[in-house]
Amino acid sequence: MWRRQAVNGASVSIRLLTARFHPKIIMSRKLHARRIEGIDKNIWVEFTQLAAHYKPVNLGQGFPDFSPPSFIQEAFCKAVNGGVHMHQYTRGFGHPALVKILAKFFSRIVGQEIDPMEDVLVTVGAYQALYCTFQALIDEGDEVIIVEPFFDCYQPMVKMAGGTAVYVPLKPREREGSGQATSSAEWELSPEELKSKFTPRTKAIVINTPNNPLGKVYLREELQMIADLCIKHDVVCISDEVYEWLTYDGTKHVKIASLPGMWERTVTIGSAGKTFSATGWKVGWAIGSDLILKHLKIVHQNSVYHCATAAQEAVAVGFQREYDVFGTEESYFQQLPAHLNEKRLRLADCLRSIGLNPIIPQGGYFMIADISNLEVDLTDPSTKDEPYDSRFVKWLIKEKGLATIPVSAFYSPEHRENFQKYIRFCFVKEDSTLKAAEVILREWSDRK
Ligand code: PMP
Ligand code: GLN
Repeated sequence: MWRRQAVNGASVSIRLLTARFHPKIIMSRKLHARRIEGIDKNIWVEFTQLAAHYKPVNLGQGFPDFSPPSFIQEAFCKAVNGGVHMHQYTRGFGHPALVKILAKFFSRIVGQEIDPMEDVLVTVGAYQALYCTFQALIDEGDEVIIVEPFFDCYQPMVKMAGGTAVYVPLKPREREGSGQATSSAEWELSPEELKSKFTPRTKAIVINTPNNPLGKVYLREELQMIADLCIKHDVVCISDEVYEWLTYDGTKHVKIASLPGMWERTVTIGSAGKTFSATGWKVGWAIGSDLILKHLKIVHQNSVYHCATAAQEAVAVGFQREYDVFGTEESYFQQLPAHLNEKRLRLADCLRSIGLNPIIPQGGYFMIADISNLEVDLTDPSTKDEPYDSRFVKWLIKEKGLATIPVSAFYSPEHRENFQKYIRFCFVKEDSTLKAAEVILREWSDRK
């Protein structure tokens, strides 16, 4: 608001202090909803800003710093040049070409006839698929079991839907003698502990396989144990499988939806960003029985309604190609993990050589490592109330020019305090980026 006022004999416009400057004075109670209280901090917002500012070697946020395969880039260009309809709305629940090929592709894998028009919803990345799922399923007071560590958005999404998150941890198996776990395979769910989390209020459980940040890939037996509990307690399973093609050392990714009795109660979530190394396209999907999917569609049609047509067309072409070459060496779903495996081994060697204890992931494109052996004098007072790993990561960015992500961000506010000794490295990066990170880590280690 502006007011005219005389200053030194002249009449000037003075801007009055409004809510922008004094938010506490004016209606602060009415400016936000309770459902967003306490979830204002976001690890990606914070650390991408730090990365933009300090321009470190970036093994932080999970995105490839190399191009997607040429067949999918060409498909996108072709789509963009493909005529007027590629620039206009397409079917709101998913571009017909994309839902058809997703249904055909995944019918073969799930062992279930998937109806493209009923059982598939295309979303703005896996994020929106998750959002639609929580909004569609969760009522005030419902409980949602989340396996820790977890991709951070699950908790705020449960809260925004009015639900209560109930956590169950993956824990490193006790080893005989001394020594810590060295593989994500050694991190397990206790069946007894999981069982104890199910109550009459439990509406859903969220699992993520391969897991971000740990890289755990659930075995069929572990999934069966979860499935048995879902069936017993009539609970929906939300299975985030965005890294489904990225497994190593012969580890097999199993879809929980393919287990007996689970198709009807599972929402499986995927991402073209992860599948085709094109995170900026933001094409994702939810697949499941129409009995559940029809509710997700209600959220979608009244919020986002529609996703970018040309990107969907390109992803459809990509999936058709993968359908045709499935199981052969030409398949990107074989080439990408083979390529990433070399990077995974290289990063693990580097971390071990400087005295860190990496947990070797069975899947995904992240590796966590124990930083307890690294002695660092963290003096920055501005971070003094933060978990140790967060302070450490900020120090590493500012002082050494290397970005990673603190693993405490993948724990609930309640349990974060107990998980401050790991940081996450992302290895879906050019060899030159990994080399630059190695140089930083080795130089630092040599100087100590
Ligand atoms: N789930 C997991 C486990 C993730 O790591 C991510 C980040 N890509 C997402 C969901 C969100 O994926 P998208 O970028 O497709 O929205
Ligand atoms: N999924 C990616 C990661 O874990 C990035 C998520 C994001 O930037 N919001 O790094």
